[in-house]
Amino acid sequence: MHEYSIMSQLVSALIEELDEKHNYKVKTVHIEVGEFTFLEPSALEFAFSVLIKDTVIKGASLEVKTIRSKIECGDCSYIGPVKYSEEPAFHLNIPIISCPECGSKPTLISGKETIIRNLTVTEEDDE
Ligand SMILES: [Zn+2]
Repeated sequence: MHEYSIMSQLVSALIEELDEKHNYKVKTVHIEVGEFTFLEPSALEFAFSVLIKDTVIKGASLEVKTIRSKIECGDCSYIGPVKYSEEPAFHLNIPIISCPECGSKPTLISGKETIIRNLTVTEEDDE
């Protein structure tokens, strides 16, 4: 389960960062995942809920946003989203990326990253 190991890394990095802010309670963790990570948001949410059980951020919820990928073409200077044909096997294979303008092989500039975008924290006393 790929999502579990990704989430495990994110959660431990998060807890490390929050270590010195004990009086804050994390309410929501927002993360962004690139579409080329092929991570399932529901699997990420499940892994998150399991991983935070006995931690300082227990009870927090996770919001996953998928970021569209972006390519840059060295031949015709196209910068923008990837366009690929709707093939039934798409989710099983890594798609072949080509420039929608000229068809040559572009560079993937975003779409493979998993990042923590922001945290919603509440002060413990507010409860
Ligand atoms: Zn091109």
